[in-house]
Amino acid sequence: MSLYEIGKCDYCGEGNRILRSSPFMADMGVMMCEHCWNDIQKEYASSNGEYIPDFKSKKDEYNILLDQIKDSKKIVFPAIYKHFKNKYYATMGIPIIIPMDKFITLEKHPNIISFNAEHTESGELYKIIKNKKQFYTYDDGYNTYTGNEQLILYKSLYDGYCPYLRPLSMFISKVDKIKYPTVKQKYRFELIKY
Ligand SMILES: [Zn+2]
Repeated sequence: MSLYEIGKCDYCGEGNRILRSSPFMADMGVMMCEHCWNDIQKEYASSNGEYIPDFKSKKDEYNILLDQIKDSKKIVFPAIYKHFKNKYYATMGIPIIIPMDKFITLEKHPNIISFNAEHTESGELYKIIKNKKQFYTYDDGYNTYTGNEQLILYKSLYDGYCPYLRPLSMFISKVDKIKYPTVKQKYRFELIKY
């Protein structure tokens, strides 16, 4: 398993960042971005002379995620993407994952649009709400994903099935050329330009 993941920093709240779990034992499961990590590293070095490793101490793993962030910034909404198996999909957006109690409150606002989306990996259905231009889903602690994860919401253009939720890292990944040697497309999903 990688030391890093992409998501929302538990310290500063910035999304789409490379995260590493907090160096403090008491902070188990807390994820931190490079910026917050560096601040704490400096603070600890000067105040208690305590050593915290560099955020990028596993350079290879770090660089893989850095490439993923660059690719994720190229994703366009709404737009049509072609899957390498020749089916077409429309991207809708990147939902913000909020705690269940906040989701229930937001859901009561007027002009909210709500629908279900199926998680591509677990097959579970999750409720999505749209407020103005932003999509939201929830983290109730039992979900396949967590509040730190980045998901993409998209819809197939060949059937009337409900939208899909998929980890963004999978959506932007490259085609496995060992498994699919005859496929010409580089990425799993590619933007259709017209
Ligand atoms: Zn941060």
